[in-house]
Amino acid sequence: MTCLPIAEMGEPILRQVAQPVPVEDIPTPSFQAFLTDLVDTLRDRKGVGIAAPQVFRSIRAIAIECQSNPRYPDIPDIPLQVLINPEILERSPDDCSFIEGCLSVPEQRGEVQRPDWIRVAAYNAAGQRVEFVAADFTARILQHEIDHLNGVLFVDRLTPSPVEAAPVSPIF
Ligand code: ZN
Repeated sequence: MTCLPIAEMGEPILRQVAQPVPVEDIPTPSFQAFLTDLVDTLRDRKGVGIAAPQVFRSIRAIAIECQSNPRYPDIPDIPLQVLINPEILERSPDDCSFIEGCLSVPEQRGEVQRPDWIRVAAYNAAGQRVEFVAADFTARILQHEIDHLNGVLFVDRLTPSPVEAAPVSPIF
């Protein structure tokens, strides 16, 4: 198992717009090995989502997963999902609020408003085109990770009057 170093806020790579992954690269052993390392790192750091720029690769790949975690009893389980070149096709008109954290922004949490649901197109780890609607916590994590691909951090989106962060907030 390989755990990759995490880029923390201040690293220029977190502010770059990441490059699309050529679809023909997805099945290659080197890219598949990178995806494995990305997922290993997500699990090792006990996050619920991770984006490639957070491990110093400026490419458009993300992974999300939320396994049973006693620290987050109110958060539903989300199966592992690896997405390459994800795009948000549609957003719900209504926003909801959630207190976010980030592996790249240690010790900070903050309230962020985002659409309730999104429609996403992407490639999966097998190189197949997928399109789906994500809602609730899954939509929240996906939007946070896709922001990373565009050089955006949750601290850019804090609501004007941030509330005190709950100690059980998950890290993305
Ligand atoms: Zn993050």
